[in-house]
Amino acid sequence: MTNYIKIKNHINGQWLDETNGQYEPLKNPSTGAVIGEVPLSSVETSRAAVAAAAEAFPAWSATPLPKRMDYIFKMQQAMKDNLEMLAESIAIDQAKHIAEARGEVGRVIEILQMACTIPALVQGETVQGIANNINGRLIKAPLGVFCGVAPFNFPALVFGWFIPFAIGTGNTFVYKPSTESPLFMQKMMQLLVEIGLPEGVVNIVHGDRETVEAWYEDDNVAGVCLVGSTPTAKAIAEGCGRSGKKTMLLGGAKNFLVAMEDAPMDLMIENILMSGYGSAGQRCLAVSNIVVVPEIYDEFVERLLEASKNVTVGDAMDPDVFMGPVISAKAKERIENYIEIGQQEGATLALDGRNPDVAAANKDGYFVGPTIFTDVTPCMQIAREEIFGPVLSVMKVGCINGALRAIKNHEMGNGAVIFTQNSYYTEKFINEADVGMVGVNVGICAPHPYLPFGGIKGSLVGNNKVQGKDAIDFFTQSKVATVRVVDPKAGEATPAGGNSDVRSCVAS
Ligand code: NAD
Repeated sequence: MTNYIKIKNHINGQWLDETNGQYEPLKNPSTGAVIGEVPLSSVETSRAAVAAAAEAFPAWSATPLPKRMDYIFKMQQAMKDNLEMLAESIAIDQAKHIAEARGEVGRVIEILQMACTIPALVQGETVQGIANNINGRLIKAPLGVFCGVAPFNFPALVFGWFIPFAIGTGNTFVYKPSTESPLFMQKMMQLLVEIGLPEGVVNIVHGDRETVEAWYEDDNVAGVCLVGSTPTAKAIAEGCGRSGKKTMLLGGAKNFLVAMEDAPMDLMIENILMSGYGSAGQRCLAVSNIVVVPEIYDEFVERLLEASKNVTVGDAMDPDVFMGPVISAKAKERIENYIEIGQQEGATLALDGRNPDVAAANKDGYFVGPTIFTDVTPCMQIAREEIFGPVLSVMKVGCINGALRAIKNHEMGNGAVIFTQNSYYTEKFINEADVGMVGVNVGICAPHPYLPFGGIKGSLVGNNKVQGKDAIDFFTQSKVATVRVVDPKAGEATPAGGNSDVRSCVAS
């Protein structure tokens, strides 16, 4: 039994109740029970968090880089030491299955390893002798206060994508978790306090749309980053565009898996179970559309159905079940509505996940079991729109070109994978699949933290991606210095050879 959870804002080193705004109930999706409350912070509170971050910026950005890195190392160690507690926090309110929640925290620990390379990645460039006695230098400097907005489905991962890179490069931060999964950040912030991170460097403000909108016209905010749905990404792009703020906005997804005639079947089925039903299908890299060539279509459908029927559904904390609930009653309703739409569109409902068997204690939880549609066509609504649940749409295409066309014509472009042993298919797919992240014989998997993560088309608003060197570019601004070296003993005398080259260098 979890104690009642009172989520608090954390501003300038203080844990604060929300006095201006409201609270909404926090629920355990595995049981439907109210387990706590989360603030919907007012505009004033949101701005106060930004003001605290702005006040902390001068001292933090002036803190020597090795010392800032010390905090990142300590952050990583604190996560390693508290992995189980952090994973449980995700399993409680987001109801990600506990095994997957451990995996999410483990991934953030890897991301922090990448963040520890910041000293190598923020090094600038120098060009000596661009004119007589003049050198050019490029510096990567922090910008000030960044604000970040998280989706419900990856409370730890998105913390890892934003905060270590933002503060490691010398910025300060205001973070707004999702009201549906705020507990991880409450626990994580406690760890940041314990490692001695200076007050105001990271601030947490809980809330929804209004809490974010408060930042658009705030001159102290240098940039806003989001991982969320595409409509939210577009709304933030519009709000920040008006005031010229930097943005990094990852949007929604609808990922394809292509099964060729020589696909390694066992491996492929195993990966589909993980990718399609992991986190109950609530992943931006969940496989959703499965495109199969005619040679293996029947065998594939039979094998997928057989394996999917064995997927167990239940409480996120139960190590013996494979799949937990979806996030809310509203999400369950939306997914069930899509199942009806699929039937109305003429797809075959080969496996219906509505009302799966769960333990009595979970009867009020938000469960949808594995669901499979066959005979789907790319133009159906269930193939085009993000369902964000454990629903797979299986389509038949004639050959690899048909598969690539379906991917290209799709509005979203996050991830796509192919299962094949043929190097021609492999290379063609890598070159032509119109998405940001491709895979071969792997489930739709997240790129390693050393490489950028992000889609294209409707899955990314703007150009900036998370992780890797892209994160450093986003959280820094390049500044170029042109420096004339004057010998103090020689005064302002220019060297022999005149100064025409100097003029050409500094005139424009
Ligand atoms: P969401 O867009 O509803 O909410 C995301 C965050 O934005 C929340 O913190 C929410 O409070 C805030 N928000 C909502 N509306 C807003 C508005 N109009 N203005 C400002 N802020 C607003 O998304 P969600 O339901 O929490 O998460 C699921 C979505 O996130 C899916 O679409 C999924 O594909 C996407 N996602 C994408 C990635 C990726 O890497 N591309 C990763 C995880 C999740």
